[in-house]
Amino acid sequence: MTKRIYNFSAGPATLPLAVLEKAQKELLNFQDQGMSIMEMSHRSSTFEAVLANAKNGIKDVLAVPDTHEILFLQGGASLQFSMIPLNIAQKDKNVSLINTGIWSKKALKEIKKQAECNVVASSEDKNFSYIPSISDQAIDQQSSFIYLCSNNTIYGTQFKQFPNTNNVPLVADMSSDILSRKIDVSKFGIIFAGAQKNIGPAGVTIVIIRKDLLARSDNNLPAMLNYNSFVDSNSLYNTIPTFGIYIISCVIDWIKDQGGLAAIETNNIEKANMLYEAIDASDYYYCPVEKHDRSLMNVVFRLNDTEEKEKEFFQEAENKGLSGLKGHRSVGGLRASIYNAHPREGIEALIDFMKTFQATNQSKSQVMA
Ligand SMILES: *Cc1c(COP(=O)(O)O)cnc(C)c1O
Repeated sequence: MTKRIYNFSAGPATLPLAVLEKAQKELLNFQDQGMSIMEMSHRSSTFEAVLANAKNGIKDVLAVPDTHEILFLQGGASLQFSMIPLNIAQKDKNVSLINTGIWSKKALKEIKKQAECNVVASSEDKNFSYIPSISDQAIDQQSSFIYLCSNNTIYGTQFKQFPNTNNVPLVADMSSDILSRKIDVSKFGIIFAGAQKNIGPAGVTIVIIRKDLLARSDNNLPAMLNYNSFVDSNSLYNTIPTFGIYIISCVIDWIKDQGGLAAIETNNIEKANMLYEAIDASDYYYCPVEKHDRSLMNVVFRLNDTEEKEKEFFQEAENKGLSGLKGHRSVGGLRASIYNAHPREGIEALIDFMKTFQATNQSKSQVMA
């Protein structure tokens, strides 16, 4: 078998090796059922136990209180941009939104189709390189909800604390940092995340919703777009993506084996700091993001050199088994996505590569000058 590379892709992203090996081992004959988990009825007791493990596991590790329901849906995180306003926007009330980049702008566009939506804070003036501060007064207490994106996958910024919204439900897109750190779930009306960055394969969306908000959904909503369809059926309104749920259940077990979110968070801080320190210590690389707002998940950086050199950096890194370091097409530059499952050794290898690349290329340009 060829060697596994270090995968810095923003998503779908690297999964824990132990999880992949377990899935491989169990692929043909799951728990002595004589068939794969993929071939099994989603209403079988064997599968229902897997679903329960995934759901209870998330409840445990994230400390989800009984006031909140955990749902597994399809349609990606992007469907939630529509499903959220369809279900919880209230008649004659506006929605407030904090604009921190492309993902919140996409949400804004969809929310506007259902309700009036006001941007109450934005970091667009500096190309989304920071998290705007938001005073409690700025939040319109008449809003049906306030929306933000906790980690900005493309720009490499992350909310370190969340605004106090009083009675207005806080809705957060946590697609790229869910289960990466401890959070107080009780502060949120809805948390949602596509699975493919930190929890499992593409095809499952996790929605954690405060139960009282479920009363807001109109009975005339299409059933597949109504949260209540999935609450009433334990996420089994229709065929759930069974294999994705199985991998999520394995990833949750892996998180527990690591020591839960406290240990995961410490590890994430150490990993990200290693890389940011290497970038800050060099005069060849720089990070365009304000220090206190830097993401622990997506480390965005640039070269003090031409864009051509950045391309060379990315291509040489690919050849050396450091994959997926190209920045998002809308911003350019470089980006190392280092989610929970990304091993420390991958970051060490990247730092080594950065030093070598600098030594070779910086001296070259100096000689030419
Ligand atoms: C990747 C990503 C999305 C989009 O997820 P899909 O599952 O592809 O719809 C939305 N928000 C954030 C913050 C993301 O990182």
